[in-house]
Amino acid sequence: MLNKFKNIRFSKSILRNTLLIASVMTILYLLIVTISLNLFKYFLNDTLDSRLKHEMEKVSKSFYIENDSLIITDYSEFNESDFVYLTESPFFLQIYDHNKKIYLQSKNIDYFHNIEKSIFDFNELIYFQDEISHQNNLRVAYQKLYDKKEEHIGFIQISTLKDKFASVLENLILLNAAIFPIALILISLASLWIANRSFAPIRKIIEVADKISASNLSERIHFNSDPEDDLTKLRNTLNNLFDRLESQIKQMSEFTDNASHQLMTPLTALNTELEYQININSNSKEILTPLKELKETTDQMISIVKILLILSKDVKSISNYKSVFNLSHLLSNKLASYYKKQKVIINSESNLYLRGSEEFFIIAIQNIVDNALKYSDNQNVNISSKLDEQNLIIEISDFGVGISNDEKEKIFERFFRGTQAENLGIKGSGLGLSLAQFIINAMDGTIEVSENYPSGSIFTIKLPILDFSNSE
Ligand code: ADP
Repeated sequence: MLNKFKNIRFSKSILRNTLLIASVMTILYLLIVTISLNLFKYFLNDTLDSRLKHEMEKVSKSFYIENDSLIITDYSEFNESDFVYLTESPFFLQIYDHNKKIYLQSKNIDYFHNIEKSIFDFNELIYFQDEISHQNNLRVAYQKLYDKKEEHIGFIQISTLKDKFASVLENLILLNAAIFPIALILISLASLWIANRSFAPIRKIIEVADKISASNLSERIHFNSDPEDDLTKLRNTLNNLFDRLESQIKQMSEFTDNASHQLMTPLTALNTELEYQININSNSKEILTPLKELKETTDQMISIVKILLILSKDVKSISNYKSVFNLSHLLSNKLASYYKKQKVIINSESNLYLRGSEEFFIIAIQNIVDNALKYSDNQNVNISSKLDEQNLIIEISDFGVGISNDEKEKIFERFFRGTQAENLGIKGSGLGLSLAQFIINAMDGTIEVSENYPSGSIFTIKLPILDFSNSE
């Protein structure tokens, strides 16, 4: 399970999209937190204000001013514990005139040395504002004071502590700050998941396109999506392209197949006639030399046509997933007896099996071994086969002329002949390795070339380990 996660690699596009989504989500998150904190602050202020308003209404009905004296009509109001002590939510009352002369002060105001007695004008019935007194946050309500003659002579001021409310807000901000890193991690994970999911159809397209180029032209891209979606349009365009490619390649294969068959008949007839002429002219050296040269050329042409016939075949007939053959037996018996006159040393683990057509696979191996002998002037050629963790590996090594680095890729192209081969006058068609690669690729394998020590080349073939679950 852990290994599975270790192997996950996210492409740059996924990471770029993750960053984009995460940034948008973080901005939204911060916006929501800021708005909700401000709303919370507004509602708490509102609650404080409505409590102050309620007290203000009760207080203003409990006295009146006459002849510059304050006459209390309801003592019980001023004796409420919230006006006397420092309760959970105390109210501090001050009634004063324009000269800040006090008419009445609640008892609990003693706990404060002073609460500023502000003189100012306002139009509202009750005016609210935040004040700080001796490092205490206060919410203060003001109402104008009128005497019996309805003259504005001063102010009624009721204050309450905002500290409790402020600490709730402070705690909320702290909590949000503590949650922020966790939120950030969750946002990043969610963004990664969304970005990764949105790229799934593209990965599907790449996966299928890869398979199509490697082995199977009939494969098509399938995933469910909205017909109007851009990815659906891309899928349809690619599938149409694959259709056209498949039919064109089929036409080309049919043409090569027909042409090769047409050529094969006269070439075989020519070859038979040449063999006959060589036999009957065995005593005449003058005629025999050109006849033998002609026979050699016809042999080479026949082998080219044979290769073209295989290359024009449908990959499916080569990959032949239903048949399995014993590779160890093929190398140690069939190939060993085929090369019994040459110095071909075979080292194969026993009981190695491959899926595909044995008939074609032996042609691929023969082409590589023939080259190894041809380009090493028939020195030793080693063939080994073994299993590693994921693949079956076949190595064919020689001590011949070797292949320069800039030609290592090109040698698998059709009709490519190396400079060394041409310079040394070693005959060939340039088709053997492309045929070998074609057959090996059709069996889901790969072929690579590297240098041998002290000279020569090593051809390494990697093929999938036999998986019997594919046998249906
Ligand atoms: P050819 O008929 O020319 O041998 P191939 O397709 O078999 O065609 O090989 C392509 C080219 O690769 C050859 O022309 C040669 O230059 C090079 N080559 C192939 N095998 C070897 C080898 N074992 N050692 C050196 N060069 C090689």
